Amino acid sequence: SDTIGDAMDRAIDVRHHIGGDWLDSAGGRTYPKTDPWTGALFAEVAAGDAEDALAAVTAADAAFPAWSDSLPIERQQVLLRAADALDRRRDEVRGLLAAETGCGVHFAEVQLDFCVNLLRQAAALAYAPAGQVLPSDLAGTRALAIRRPVGVVAAIAPWNASLVLAGRAVVAPIATGNTVVLKPSEEAPYTGGAFWAALLSEAGLPAGVLNVVTHAPGEAGAVAEALIADPRVRRISFTGSTVTGRRIAETAGRHLKRAVLQLGGHNPLLVLADAPLDRAVDAAIYGAFVHSGQTCMCARRIIVDRALFDDFAVRFVARAAALPVGDPTDPATVVGPVVNEWALSLLERRVREAVDQGARLLTGGVPAGRCFPPTVLADVPPTSELAFDETFGPVVLLEACDGAEDALRRANATDFGLTAGIITGDPYRGLDLACRLRAGIVHVNDQPVNDQPQMPFGGVKDSGAGRFGIGFAAEEFTEVQWVSARQE
Ligand code: NAD
Repeated sequence: SDTIGDAMDRAIDVRHHIGGDWLDSAGGRTYPKTDPWTGALFAEVAAGDAEDALAAVTAADAAFPAWSDSLPIERQQVLLRAADALDRRRDEVRGLLAAETGCGVHFAEVQLDFCVNLLRQAAALAYAPAGQVLPSDLAGTRALAIRRPVGVVAAIAPWNASLVLAGRAVVAPIATGNTVVLKPSEEAPYTGGAFWAALLSEAGLPAGVLNVVTHAPGEAGAVAEALIADPRVRRISFTGSTVTGRRIAETAGRHLKRAVLQLGGHNPLLVLADAPLDRAVDAAIYGAFVHSGQTCMCARRIIVDRALFDDFAVRFVARAAALPVGDPTDPATVVGPVVNEWALSLLERRVREAVDQGARLLTGGVPAGRCFPPTVLADVPPTSELAFDETFGPVVLLEACDGAEDALRRANATDFGLTAGIITGDPYRGLDLACRLRAGIVHVNDQPVNDQPQMPFGGVKDSGAGRFGIGFAAEEFTEVQWVSARQE
């Protein structure tokens, strides 16, 4: 790619990365990707289709035998070189994340720290034990359980934490000897797609091990469908909304393929009667509004014991209303632009409808240019979309509860189960509640937006199936083979 280095001086050309080459779409089409804050053209992007997807699968399939058989030191060196290169490019990547997705300075640093560390930890995966010796009841027989890479992995990623979520989708599969076709979101074709291909190929990743196919808005279905249906693709990795994930899982199921699903959340933060109020307000502000509320882990419901509710609400709403809104490149900004017009109008409509249905709007609710300001509601009726569906943005619901058991019951009364936080003066009781909360991730005395490359990351119920995290992901992207040899 001619894009890295001088990327910020002019619009980028994002092409497919197939078999080590940067290619235009077979159909010759492109689409414009604009900057969510300035509205300027960020990139002209290859608008691929099923034909491009199949070309990428062919390249990945051809690269698999050599890559799965490569020396661990080769895989380790590629990943360590990529980590160092990414670490050196922090300023450039921060600018790219802002210009492509509206990501602010703080969350860009969070993404960079995660990805550098992800690459370094994944380098060690190359040397992880590849199986076990098992006792056999057949006389004279030696039996092995060997962990083998699955083959070609189709990775479908969202836009919101583009660098992390594309990285998470490709790095562990590659480290364990698979080859990958990455399909980024149309909102993040560069930082969630081509950038990773450029970074890894410059670090020495052989051609065909990571391929990237982009597509125009509204055309994800055809590309994803072609990838999942191709018999050479052996595993699906999907991160995105629950609605799309359900489609992906249905298609994967029809082709008898396993899909690792990282989906949406409607995450509760529980503030118990004995919670220190300052700590609870800090956790709620960060958990609800970091990255403009556009992470799957964000606190969407804050369930506060009635004994504290009024004090909490007054302080929380005052802090929320004062958060700086606007330019994502200004380090002081907390809430930046919403990714596109559609997302902005969905936020506005859902808040308006909740208010029409009887909710109390405590602050926010009306778009300010391309931004949606921090918005807090109370008494949201359970029939409102805000109450039962994920709303991706800086909107949070306050709810009063009567005691810890009532808080737990309310926290579990959702179809989702990704993250949760519990703020309490009694960490043992917090731990007990955490063990009874139906969520993949629970933090006692912390807010729910937290990820580290080595931690098991994933949800239960409608928030998904399967776990990312070095070590855990290694199991998702390998298959165990039973091999035995009998002495004559
Ligand atoms: P999305 O579901 O709209 O898109 C995700 C991916 O699916 C993109 O690559 C998109 O192009 C593709 N896609 C869209 N329609 C498709 C279709 N019909 N068939 C096949 N693929 C299709 O999600 P998004 O808006 O990009 O991301 C935000 C969502 O992702 C939120 O729901 C958020 O909670 C979730 N998310 C989950 C995690 C997690 O780890 N659990 C992490 C980040 C984001």
